[in-house]
Amino acid sequence: MSLADSWRAARPPVAGLHLDSAACSRQSYAALDAAARHARHEAEVGGYVVAEAAAPVLDAGRAAFAALTGMADADVVFTTGSRNALDLLLSRWPGAQRTIACLPGEYGPNLAVMAAHGFSRRLLPVDDTGRLVLDETATALATDPPSLVHLTPVGSHRGLVQPLAQMADICRGLGVPLVVDAAQALGQIDCAVGAEAVYSSSRKWLAGPRGVGALALRPALAELSEPGPEAGDINVAAQLGFSVALGEHLAAGPVAVRAALAGVGARSRRVLAQLPGWRVVEPLDEPSAITTLVPPPGTDPVAVRAWLITEHGIVTTAAGVERAPLELIVPVLRISPHVDTTEDDVQVLATALAAAPDGG
Ligand SMILES: *Cc1c(COP(=O)(O)O)cnc(C)c1O
Repeated sequence: MSLADSWRAARPPVAGLHLDSAACSRQSYAALDAAARHARHEAEVGGYVVAEAAAPVLDAGRAAFAALTGMADADVVFTTGSRNALDLLLSRWPGAQRTIACLPGEYGPNLAVMAAHGFSRRLLPVDDTGRLVLDETATALATDPPSLVHLTPVGSHRGLVQPLAQMADICRGLGVPLVVDAAQALGQIDCAVGAEAVYSSSRKWLAGPRGVGALALRPALAELSEPGPEAGDINVAAQLGFSVALGEHLAAGPVAVRAALAGVGARSRRVLAQLPGWRVVEPLDEPSAITTLVPPPGTDPVAVRAWLITEHGIVTTAAGVERAPLELIVPVLRISPHVDTTEDDVQVLATALAAAPDGG
């Protein structure tokens, strides 16, 4: 069976067209069942009793996350998501200096977390697509090293892939810690590059449940992840579902999934580039499954997204400028198919979009 067929067969049939994995992928039966079974056992034998029985699966989930992030020696903790991981890291970041280097395309809510923890920001040099310029980056970081580099290798607002491995080499060479927001990168690109810390969310390309994520930290930073007095209750069922999704991803083969997602992205952009009035932002062969479309003048992506759902059962995202306030100038419509999406599916979207009324 092809990867697309086994992915499709592993989860409930979709109502309409789901082109929204960058927001929330469709979970598998196995991940759904693990979480549901755990919740049922909580009712039968007690929440704290059954949590002990879940420990081996959670250990396997943490080990899978460590493997995917190239952090075999790392401490992995579950979080409630990516934002929670960054908040945890920066709230306890050691040292008095608080300067952070990031991309102009940095995720808006991350910028808010950085500011809330008193970090001052420097922007890394990029070209006019928003991609890091490596030689200028190396010079800037060497001249005046920040406390850390925070890199979001695939953003929420654009399917551009940053040169993560090269950035990791530069940071290692200079002894500047690299922290990676892999919310969109994990599953789509190789994240095992030797960063100091990597965090991600469950529900996006890994297709686990909502409200959970993970953070991997090298031993030097491991004390940052110890549960503090502020730690609240834990959604063990969600952590179990995520662990199962991580296991399924490893079983499917991360290299094969990445190649399939890159192929889906390239094919989608070729179809959508034909659409009159709408403009594809990414280079057509960018190796990610995210396509963003700038609408024709006067067309509002928020209204188009809503119209696609009600009229066609097609799920996409309207990404406003707040997602990357230092880079995104106009709101875009984001298409993020998973490996099971066919070219015919994207054609159905293109046909619908061609008939979308102004302002939806
Ligand atoms: C979704 C996203 C986040 C936030 O993830 P949560 O799990 O919702 O906290 C952070 N960074 C990027 C690039 C994202 O796409």
